[in-house]
Amino acid sequence: MMEPADILVAGAGPAGLTLALQARDHGAVVRVIDRRQEAARPSRALILHPRTLEVLRPLGVTQALLARADIAPAADLRLGARTVRVTLAGLDLPDTAFPHLSLVRQTDVERVLARALADRGIRVEYGTELAGVRDGADGVRAVLRSPAGTEEIMAGFVAGCDGPASTVRAQAGIGWPGGRYPVEVILADAELDGDLPGDAACLVAGRRGLLFVFRLGEQASWRLLATRPAGSDRLPPGQFGPPVPAAELQALMDEAGLGARLTGLAWSARVGLQHRVAGRFRHGRLFLAGDAAHAYSPATGQGMNTAVQDAANLGWKLAFAATGPGSGPLLDSYDAERRPVARQVLAMTHLAFWAEASTGPVASAFRGYLAPLAAPAVPALTRRRRLVAEGIRLVSQLRVSYRDSPLSVEGTPRRPGRPRAGDRLPDQLVTSAGRSIRLHDLLAAPGVHILLDRDADRPGTLSPGPLVNVHRLTSVPGRGLIAVRPDGYVGFRCQATEAGQLAAWLTRLGAWQPGAPAGPGRPA
Ligand SMILES: Cc1cc2nc3c(=O)[nH]c(=O)nc-3n(C[C@H](O)[C@H](O)[C@H](O)COP(=O)(O)OP(=O)(O)OC[C@H]3O[C@@H](n4cnc5c(N)ncnc54)[C@H](O)[C@@H]3O)c2cc1C
Repeated sequence: MMEPADILVAGAGPAGLTLALQARDHGAVVRVIDRRQEAARPSRALILHPRTLEVLRPLGVTQALLARADIAPAADLRLGARTVRVTLAGLDLPDTAFPHLSLVRQTDVERVLARALADRGIRVEYGTELAGVRDGADGVRAVLRSPAGTEEIMAGFVAGCDGPASTVRAQAGIGWPGGRYPVEVILADAELDGDLPGDAACLVAGRRGLLFVFRLGEQASWRLLATRPAGSDRLPPGQFGPPVPAAELQALMDEAGLGARLTGLAWSARVGLQHRVAGRFRHGRLFLAGDAAHAYSPATGQGMNTAVQDAANLGWKLAFAATGPGSGPLLDSYDAERRPVARQVLAMTHLAFWAEASTGPVASAFRGYLAPLAAPAVPALTRRRRLVAEGIRLVSQLRVSYRDSPLSVEGTPRRPGRPRAGDRLPDQLVTSAGRSIRLHDLLAAPGVHILLDRDADRPGTLSPGPLVNVHRLTSVPGRGLIAVRPDGYVGFRCQATEAGQLAAWLTRLGAWQPGAPAGPGRPA
């Protein structure tokens, strides 16, 4: 018989898999279902951002992801008659271990995450659909449907990672404000012949939209992505719609002036697009993450990255709440932290998508006349490493901070400088236990991490549990501490080791209970 689940994860896309993995690593019993019959499906997303790799790192999957990624992606931008080569590698981002964009297929990301779950004994139950959920005082009653029949189970929490047409969102009665884009995306896996770079993607910004080809096809050598005005048939947004005839694809390439001939077409689909953010990310014991919580255009490659970062914010919280006393602020903090981020990302993608795909006169003129005129300046701009790095920092959510969160606490006496409570902990070289090590390497394990300054007292009254790790940084002078959450944000900091304040913060997280027996922790 199956063990009752602390957390039922509905949907095994990037959000559901990440959330399940993180919750499992923080002590929860997790069950993952997906209505798809099998894991394989064509990729939509193709880019992983630095911050996404950072939040995945404690789950032990980044090496496997990087092994499947191109970490020096190059693209030829065709702006009118000019072609400009852009390479996004070796960025000026010294505070991350991943100073690059990573070109990697969404299927590979899902494969790596599902494999990591399997290594922990969790098998995704494909072919099982969440048919209904009812939130109650002591748990959620969920109805699951599979070829084996209908099953009713109880779970502590349900994570709705079930994509844009989320059942959890609908059953929770959560609003889905926003609208459809008048532009659709065409995806195709094809064989192409012609004047195309052998070592880079090719991007054409034309008056009618954007056309992008790169050697990451799954059923053929090339993947093509193009935008065009949406048809009148109102496709279900975010899902693969009907195929596109080869002649239409060739016409799109000719119109853009790509200079390529389609010699084979393995697969294609039209995809409708929308822009929405759910009215709430939580209703009682029901939570939304990823595309179930927000839907963007593909501009700047945000959907999968935001989905993973949502999941990395929520997985450990649900696990701590399920296995400990739980606390209102802990669970409330998810909506408070991630919904503002979702709204900012929506604004950014909206603007970028307007510039690259709108068929309105201003955006068309921008792409058709202004961009080619500005083309000679592009190499000089991309050589301004600081400027490029700041752009990537913004797009990849390295700048996200949760200073107003109920989980961000400044202790007394207050610690000066940065990072402040709520900020992402930047990577840097430190010395700990007699060795020189990158900080994010030291923290690449599940749990809360407490970083003691060189001369800090070890908080004596505190008995850390197995998910509270204590490190002494001998390269950081002082007598204070910084406590870092499992998703890499500073939660508490203080200029002295005030054990009572630290214990109150850990209790708020559910990472420590007063009077709990001592766990192993790690020696300072
Ligand atoms: C053309 C295109 C290009 C894109 N490019 C990028 C990019 O470059 N970078 C990027 O970051 N993002 C990109 N995205 C977005 C990205 O693909 C999505 O944001 C991402 O897949 C979201 O992951 P998710 O896990 O939230 O949802 P999904 O991947 O949609 O997964 C949801 C899962 O839930 C399952 N499900 C649904 N209902 C139920 C139910 N009732 N019971 C059980 N299971 C259910 C589904 O079968 C599905 O497997 C792109 C999107 C499109 C359309």
